[in-house]
Order: sequence, then C-alpha cells, then structure tokens
Amino acid sequence: MIVAIMTPIMVEHEFVEHAKVAHYGRFQAAIERYIRENNSWDTEKDALRFAIAEENNRKLHRTPRNSPHMRPQGQADAPYFSGLPPPRRRPGSKASEELPFAFVLTDTQGHILHAGKDYKIGQKLTEEELSGADSLWVKGRLVAYALSSGEPDLSTADLAYLHTLRETLLFSALGAIVFIIPFGIWEGSRLVRTLNHLTSAVNRMAEGEFKQQVPVKSEDEVGALAKAFNLMNTQLHEAYKNLEDSRNKIAKQAEQLKELSIRDELTGLYNRRFFNEEVKVLHANALRYGNGFCLVLGDIDFFKRINDGYSHVVGDEVLKQVAKILMNSIRNSDIVARYGGEEMVLALPNTSPQAAMEMMERIRKTIEQHPWDSIAEGMKVTMSFGICDETNGEHFEHMLAVADELLYKAKNNGRNQVCSLSCSQTH
Ligand code: GH3
Ligand code: MG
Ligand code: MG
Repeated sequence: MIVAIMTPIMVEHEFVEHAKVAHYGRFQAAIERYIRENNSWDTEKDALRFAIAEENNRKLHRTPRNSPHMRPQGQADAPYFSGLPPPRRRPGSKASEELPFAFVLTDTQGHILHAGKDYKIGQKLTEEELSGADSLWVKGRLVAYALSSGEPDLSTADLAYLHTLRETLLFSALGAIVFIIPFGIWEGSRLVRTLNHLTSAVNRMAEGEFKQQVPVKSEDEVGALAKAFNLMNTQLHEAYKNLEDSRNKIAKQAEQLKELSIRDELTGLYNRRFFNEEVKVLHANALRYGNGFCLVLGDIDFFKRINDGYSHVVGDEVLKQVAKILMNSIRNSDIVARYGGEEMVLALPNTSPQAAMEMMERIRKTIEQHPWDSIAEGMKVTMSFGICDETNGEHFEHMLAVADELLYKAKNNGRNQVCSLSCSQTH
C-alpha cells in the first residue's frame, strides 16, 4: 500500500523537477543572452526591458499567424531584446494559454520578469514567496529567482502513464491484501497450533510427564522444530529412565548394604552392633517414662556337643532354626539379635518382669519341643535364658551384665530354664 501510494507521487514530483530544470535552463540562457546583448543586469531598467521583451515574446507565440517582432505600445524606447525562447512543448501537452502550471521569474529584488499563472509582470513577490523560490545563477552570480505555480503541465501520455501506474500499483496492493492476509492468517494459525502443542508438551513435562510427542504436520521449519522436540524428548526420556533405574538400583543396593551391615549373615538376626544402637534408645525411653523394660540373654545348651556330635553344618542349621523360633515368638516392638556364637539377646520394651518370664518360658518350651530329629536323628536342643527386669542403672550394659549373671545361674541350675532376679542358685 505504501508503494502504491508513494510511487505515483514520486513520479509526479520527478516530472515537476524535470520541468523545472528545463525551464530554469531556458531562463538562465535568456538572462545570459540579455547580459551579453545589453551588458547590464539587475537594474529597474533591465527588469522592465526583459519583462517587455518577454511579454512581446509571449504574445507573439499566442498569435496564430506569427507576425514579425512587435514592440508594445508606449514602450518604443525599450531596446531590442529577443526575450525568452518559447518553451518546447511535448507532444500531447496542453496549449500554452491553458497552462495550469507555469514558472515565475523575478530579478534579485523580486520583480516579476516572466509571469506565470496567478502572477503579473511588474508585481513584486513578498519575502515569504521569495524564500520558497529557487535561485538562478549565471557564471557564479545570482541573477534571478524562479518558482513554479499551479498544477504540473503533464502531457496526456504522462497522465496516462501516471494513471496506469496508479492502477497497477493499486491492484497489486489489493491483490497482496487478498492473497497475503488469508495466507498470513492460515500460516500464522498453523504456527500457533504447533507452538500450542509444544507449549502444552513442555508444561506437561514440567509437571512430571516426561514422555511427550507432538504431531509433525509439515516438512518446513515448524515441522523441523516439532521433529527436533520429539527427538530431544525421546532422548531426554531415555536418559531420565536410565537415571531413574540407576537411582532405584543405588537405593536398593544402599538398602541391601544397610541390611547387610545390621544383620547377621547366618541367622538373619540383627547383629550385636545394631542391637546396641537400638537398645540404647529403648533403655533411655524406659528410664524416662518408667515403663517396664527387660533384657534377656540366651545361650544354647551344650552346643559344642551338637557341633562335635553331628557336624558344624548341623550346628549352623540349629542356629538358624533357633533364630527363626525367636523371631516368630516376639512382638514387633521387641528386638532379637545374635550376640555372638550361640548366644542370643532380646530387648523387650513395655514388658513387666512377669510378662517377660512368661514369654521366655514359652520360647524355651518351643525350642525344647521343636522337631530337631528332622535335622539330625536323636538330636535334642534346649536353651537357657537370664532375664534382667531392672532398669535402675545408667547404662543398658549394666542390665546385660545382670542378664549374663542370671544366664550363668540358669546354666548352673541345670540348663534348659529361664532365670530372673528372683532365681536362686541351686548348685
Ligand atoms: P553351655 O551349655 O555351657 O553353653 O555349653 P556350650 O557347649 O554351648 O558352650 P561352649 O562355649 O563350650 O561352646 C560353644 C560352641 O559354639 C563353641 C563354638 O565352636 C560354637 N559355635 C560358635 N559359633 C558357631 C557358629 O556360628 N556355628 C557353629 N556351628 N558353631 C558355633
Ligand atoms: Mg556360649
Ligand atoms: Mg552354650
């Protein structure tokens, strides 16, 4: 639209500039000739002479039959000057009388020497009008001012050219609007749709749904972008999956390592180190809240004989079975651990001495009545226990020492029995 509007204006302006150059050249030539013929310029006399000659010349060219050179009446004393040469008319341009566009020539003071449309000879231009005029120079000397007035004198060919130019450009602009705007809207909405797909895919990724694919509907840059996103997402998802797998594996291994570090390999019971850590807390809580808390040490009777009489493998199996019986016999809040060799330790929080005695008696019986024959024919396994049910000591180790003493009592009293603080030595 800008080209369609600006081009005809610029072409018309170019026509006017062209006309100006031609006319100014004519003016300059005439003034130069006048100076040569009269050896004077820029006096009032010169202005008058030049204007009369110019007026005569104008009339001469208006007369259909060209008469010889005439001087205006009452101006007989004016010396001869041939005046301006007639403007050369281009084919198709308008007759001179109807010229809608003319050039005004003034001397350096602003007196009109050659009248154009709307101006008369002798009239003086105002300062303001002169400021808009062009300066004419002859041999480096300012000789006159010239300005154009009226509409440009365009030939029918020029007008037809301008008209065709205007129409062609207007149709081009309209064509551009008709085709480019719907194309732009269509192309834009396609772009927006793809961008919407991409935006929502990225948003879903941010919400944790890593696997995202967007539709690829073209082979152009938008399609390439969608393809690149899909590829990137696949690789990212793959990398994320691998990372997650590794993380799970590491977490699992860490869990296994932790289990290994706290459990006894043979029996699966907690080890002594873990037991000591846990029991510290249980003991501290029992001291603070005054709840019943019992520690029990157990030892398999004559275990050396089992090893020696049957084999170490049988001895190991006995250890495993005893551990299983102990684990199955305690509550979730209790802890049982392998304290070393064939010695086991139990921590029973929130347990009264009487409840602990009943519980350990039950376990002792279970061990005694277990079908040990199925492991080795004729084999009997019993276990002795010492229960410490007094928490009045600063450290749990004190309780363990008491439990150990009571276990020793149980052994001395004939084994396969549970000994608490009320237990009396019989042997
Ligand atoms: P008591 O009734 O006085 O406890 O007699 P005991 O034979 O059980 O006691 P002793 O301390 O003399 O023997 C314990 C035996 O336990 C000695 C050791 O070889 C065995 N032992 C310790 N740890 C293991 C183990 O992991 N596997 C096997 N098979 N035997 C073990
Ligand atoms: Mg022992
Ligand atoms: Mg033993």
